[in-house]
Amino acid sequence: MIPYGKQTISPADIDAVVRVLQSDFLTQGNQVPAFERAIAQYCGAEYGIAVNSATSALHIACLALSLGKGDILWTTPTTFVASANCALYCGAEVDFVDIDPQTLNLSVEHLRDKLAHAQRIGKLPKIIIPVHLCGEPCDMQAIKQLADEYGFHIIEDASHAIGASYRDGKVGNCQYSDITVFSFHPVKIITTAEGGMAMTNYAELANKMAQLRSHGITRDPAEMIGNSDGAWYYQQIDLGFNYRMTELQGALGLSQMTRLKEFIARRHQLAQQYDDLLAKLPITLPYRDPRNRSALHLYPIQVASDKRTFVFDYLKQHEIGVNVHYIPVHTQPYYRQHFGFKQGDFPNAERYYAQAISLPLYFDLSDDEQKQVVETLKQALQAA
Ligand SMILES: *Cc1c(COP(=O)(O)O)cnc(C)c1O
Repeated sequence: MIPYGKQTISPADIDAVVRVLQSDFLTQGNQVPAFERAIAQYCGAEYGIAVNSATSALHIACLALSLGKGDILWTTPTTFVASANCALYCGAEVDFVDIDPQTLNLSVEHLRDKLAHAQRIGKLPKIIIPVHLCGEPCDMQAIKQLADEYGFHIIEDASHAIGASYRDGKVGNCQYSDITVFSFHPVKIITTAEGGMAMTNYAELANKMAQLRSHGITRDPAEMIGNSDGAWYYQQIDLGFNYRMTELQGALGLSQMTRLKEFIARRHQLAQQYDDLLAKLPITLPYRDPRNRSALHLYPIQVASDKRTFVFDYLKQHEIGVNVHYIPVHTQPYYRQHFGFKQGDFPNAERYYAQAISLPLYFDLSDDEQKQVVETLKQALQAA
């Protein structure tokens, strides 16, 4: 089976992890801070806070921005559930903004209309989470302009987008947001097995997130209530978690970072080849804005909805490991049952979902394997 996505592990990655295993520190050593500095430097952000998943990063990002009961967070329905769940962890409400059918990202038009309405009824969101779907950056300048007008915070869910650029800057530089979150799950662009990172340019947010990832504890006497009892002393000043990344993961991430540029370049080569090989087929190919550089985490095609399931099953039966990204979050049973969302609430996201198939795309996919995917897809469309 050719999978839809998979990690690339080099001998250097393995050596880096083994060296940590042979060292004194399996956690809380110098690898994770080095990984944080490497990513911050690469993106052009001041701070990186490494954690055990992007889900954890989204959670502490929301908490650092004081999201809580009575607050509202908006995101796109076309995303992984974690982009919305982070609001629920904080006791806040979630709502969605429908997608733009071309970019598949949260629609700025819908956002503008929804904000105007929310202002009239006094239900403006505290945080909006744009998701750079497939690694294609959202229109951050427009979203930031609305943030300034309506006073909401922005957390970019860049789980798909490390290595992407928006206009002249790297995604993750937080030029248009408070915080940007990356995922290092094995199907994403670089991996630490499980892992994530929250980027920010605000010292206060970085400090708060660093505390929250480690039980809400501080060892800095300046932050303590009263005096320190001595060199051993720490205080818990907030309710945090154990969301720490291990040194094994930090070393793996640091080693993977040295090949990020190569990873993205190959993804672009493969996507360009898909564009050419699939151009004449009766399907819709994914959009890329020429002013940006996508990280190309995914390559989703759209097939007529009455043929999608047949084509998907045909590809699977012929050893092509396709997938569907994403089932609209508002249609998940948990969201329907607890919050009253229903089919029809966000028609663009639902229409896209009914047509979507993500084709295999990863660094190690060979040209021959890609041709096999294309040939099998052609057969499937003919048979459908
Ligand atoms: C993968 C993903 C997440 C969650 O990442 P983890 O590191 O697995 O917690 C969040 N949002 C999006 C859009 C994702 O694709």
